[in-house]
Amino acid sequence: MANSNFDLSGKTAIVTGANTGIGQGIAVALSEAGADIALVARSDASETASMIAATGRKVAIIEADLSTTEPCQRIISETVSQFGRLDILVNNAGIIRRNDALDFTEDDWDAVMDTNLKVLFFLSQAAGRHMAEHGRGSIINIASMLTFQGGIRVASYTASKSGVGGLTKLLANEWAGKGITVNAIAPGYIATNNTAALQADEARNRQILERIPAGRWGEPSDLGGAAVFLASDAARYVQGHILAVDGGWLAR
Ligand code: NAP
Repeated sequence: MANSNFDLSGKTAIVTGANTGIGQGIAVALSEAGADIALVARSDASETASMIAATGRKVAIIEADLSTTEPCQRIISETVSQFGRLDILVNNAGIIRRNDALDFTEDDWDAVMDTNLKVLFFLSQAAGRHMAEHGRGSIINIASMLTFQGGIRVASYTASKSGVGGLTKLLANEWAGKGITVNAIAPGYIATNNTAALQADEARNRQILERIPAGRWGEPSDLGGAAVFLASDAARYVQGHILAVDGGWLAR
């Protein structure tokens, strides 16, 4: 790379929810910058694995269901035993449930909060213990526009992503002195499975596009540059930051 500060050669990254969407885009971008990648997925991640192998980097798939904290420690141990190190954790896996607040169910609350917030924290804790021991590491959480805004019909998603913003700052405060950077990326409207319902709704799709200064939905690959930056030595003094990658949505 032209600027070696952005070079991730020799580093190992874990990306959760890496079989598709934003996780796939980030995993490929990190591998293109030189990192070896542990893909954490509950579904078939072979497509992402092939894309990473094509960049010449090492890749492993770690099967795990992130609806509970049960696999957190195993994910870190398997990564370290397969690659010999862990430098970067991208907490990307997430779900969304839509319903009016008046009808929102406890199941839709718990499922979203567990995967998007509770597991994100305990996987970060497991990674943080390893990183603190080695005095280095970068954690990147995937936040949302709903880290800043209220949204509508997505009560648990908004609560979870607002929580991700708070936890990102808390962990940065506690771990900056241990050589670990903790930051977040807040994607705007990105064309993935997560937003399939919005894209399919003609009226909502038009309203969304009208508000995006860039005039288009984002693609998973649009998140790659921000992830490489936050994972790299170029961001060693960036702490607790939530970087919007949104085509200008928040600027409106
Ligand atoms: P996506 O295509 O639905 O991807 C979500 C990923 O998380 C998938 O790999 C999914 O696996 C995984 N996942 C969910 N629950 C899991 C579980 N219990 N165990 C293991 N993996 C699990 O949506 P996406 O848009 O790429 O979302 C990625 C992240 O970006 C999420 O945190 C989402 O909230 C956030 N985000 C997305 C947007 C957007 O506009 N798309 C905007 C802001 C934030 P399966 O394929 O097996 O379900």
